[in-house]
Amino acid sequence: MEEDKDPGMGTLSVWGGEEEYLLQGATQVPVVHSVAFGYPDVDEWLEVALGHQPGHIYSRNTNPTVSAFEEKVRTLEGAEAATSFSTGMAAISNTLFTLLSPGDRVVSYKDTYGGTNKVFLEFLPRFGIQVQLCDTHDHEMIEAEIAKGCQVLYLESPTNPTLKVVDLERLARAGKAAGARVVVDNTFATPINQRPLELGADLVLHSATKFLGGHADALGGVICGRRDLVEQVYHFREINGATLHPMSAYLLLRGMKTLSLRVKHQNQSALHIARFLEARPEVSHVYYPGLESHEQHAIAARQMAGFGGVLSFSLKGGFDAVRSFLPRLKYAHLAANLGSVETVAGPPATTSHVECTRQEREAMGIPEGLIRYSVGIEDTADLLADLEQALQPVR
Ligand SMILES: *Cc1c(COP(=O)(O)O)cnc(C)c1O
Repeated sequence: MEEDKDPGMGTLSVWGGEEEYLLQGATQVPVVHSVAFGYPDVDEWLEVALGHQPGHIYSRNTNPTVSAFEEKVRTLEGAEAATSFSTGMAAISNTLFTLLSPGDRVVSYKDTYGGTNKVFLEFLPRFGIQVQLCDTHDHEMIEAEIAKGCQVLYLESPTNPTLKVVDLERLARAGKAAGARVVVDNTFATPINQRPLELGADLVLHSATKFLGGHADALGGVICGRRDLVEQVYHFREINGATLHPMSAYLLLRGMKTLSLRVKHQNQSALHIARFLEARPEVSHVYYPGLESHEQHAIAARQMAGFGGVLSFSLKGGFDAVRSFLPRLKYAHLAANLGSVETVAGPPATTSHVECTRQEREAMGIPEGLIRYSVGIEDTADLLADLEQALQPVR
């Protein structure tokens, strides 16, 4: 019986997707920089070009190193198929522009990633696509808008930067009932903590730049899910050209070997830190789905195996307090990324919502005193001590 057991997420992080791409006994996937793949036999070349035989033709379309990366994500998400992109935003925009046509309607909410929000408000309407952005917490409103008819339901949970959680299973069910394709941005949770395909999503996507790669040294994006949909998006991407570079694919692949280890540690550390911050007088609010005080804690506990490595908190002193507090942190890069082995901190104005005006951020309910804190893999005690010393003068 033991042999029949599916491997765990730690095992899949290390071994998943690689076997087919190893070369001449190498234990690591090679970086294939070649732009094209040669065929001395024209008939065989034709078979591969027509997709009747496995193989690669041209690296804008497919490449062995890139395929290994896609395959690893596919196994971790439990998906039928996967395809990748130069960035997370390329994954998101290519998916939306593939699935939507003029006259179509997409339902989502106000708290999606800043760049995604820009696609909804600035670009899709220019192509005659109707965008309905609901209040993120309001499941009834979202369901009512879905029922009016839509081709795509676009979800993200937990959200950036205020860590709101939506009931993915409930909304996916409503989306399916209306005949919509259900797309979930799973960047914050990672497949270690949340598997949206099991909750009813058709497609799950990631900014691989964040937790999947985990080392802040490569940009990338990936989608996986239903084969027919992934193939449609792949076709748009191969022509549109937002291809993942083989070197980036290699860095992401290597980073992913420790995904399970990293995320489990980050889950634990983030919960400790969230509890510590919640008890501090300088802090007005802590946003973390693992806290019992979090409005959707029950939903998060149901659909997530862990609550993730990102938390946010607001300082009572507003943006002035943020400006003096952040540079005092010893163990945090003040930078725009997240999900790295190093702790990263910053305000939404320079990170997730840099594309938005102050008024737009206010309309989204993002306070100016907010700090997004992406917990790295440092020792938890060192991060707690660092926050403590940085908070002291705020009082
Ligand atoms: C960073 C991020 C993106 C965009 O990814 P890039 O790789 O920066 O293009 C999309 N969604 C979420 C939730 C993100 O955090």
